[in-house]
Amino acid sequence: MSRADRRRRAATGGRGPVTDADALARRIRAAKLPGTPPELAERAKKALEAFVESAAAQGVPLAEIARHMADGRAAATIAHVEREQATAQGQDPAKGAACAAGCAFCCILSGEDGGTITAHEAERLHAALAPRAGEPDGRDWHPNACPALDPATRMCRAYEARPLICRSYHSADAAACEANAAGEPAPGARLAGAHLTYLAAHGLARAALGPRARVETFALREVARAAVEGQDAETALAAARHGPPALDAERRRTGRAWTAARGRG
Ligand code: SF4
Ligand code: SF4
Repeated sequence: MSRADRRRRAATGGRGPVTDADALARRIRAAKLPGTPPELAERAKKALEAFVESAAAQGVPLAEIARHMADGRAAATIAHVEREQATAQGQDPAKGAACAAGCAFCCILSGEDGGTITAHEAERLHAALAPRAGEPDGRDWHPNACPALDPATRMCRAYEARPLICRSYHSADAAACEANAAGEPAPGARLAGAHLTYLAAHGLARAALGPRARVETFALREVARAAVEGQDAETALAAARHGPPALDAERRRTGRAWTAARGRG
């Protein structure tokens, strides 16, 4: 094997280049997702294979399909379709939720990063918030609130561009959310199943495309903070970029929570 061939193989995880959509679909089928429950991994594989096959059938070039897998558009599309199907079957994850405009305890972000989002979501969130730079933001209401929040109305100022994590969170009890935001455990909140499929699909994209494809994740809180403080998109995304283990850690954490919730019936 020539040195150039060896370089090409190394760039694709040692498996040689993907030359067509069928080869990409086979990579997805063969990918491993340790830590994701097998039922979820299989659901994500089928959905991502269908995404690739459908895009190829519509004449989308392979490079563009790979780009949409890497930047998270594929994972978001898959989650959107899954949610639409659940709603059509009478299983809308928001059914029975207490969620309402101006109820924003779930926008008081716990942890360091406030949520795992993809590159496409990070770019959209930044673009939506950049024009609001310098205005009062969520931290004027609560020190741990998302900077995208309007502190007066407690509405999201990036509503159309809010990431999937924000669309996936529901609760039957706003008082429980208030308790959670204060650090007290209280039942009621739940994450829609489509969010787990999204994380699994993004993990599959990374496994199938190989290490050079830059399938990245970002910290929601940091993107929003940087945008409302006037940083440009490149600087904001550089500061908010996760290290590679973050996606797998989030995928495993939510997978364990899903399994535990199933066990409780
Ligand atoms: S998840 Fe909780 S805090 Fe957020 S809108 Fe719903 S009820 Fe309100
Ligand atoms: S982006 Fe919007 S919906 Fe999401 S946490 Fe921030 S304020 Fe809340």
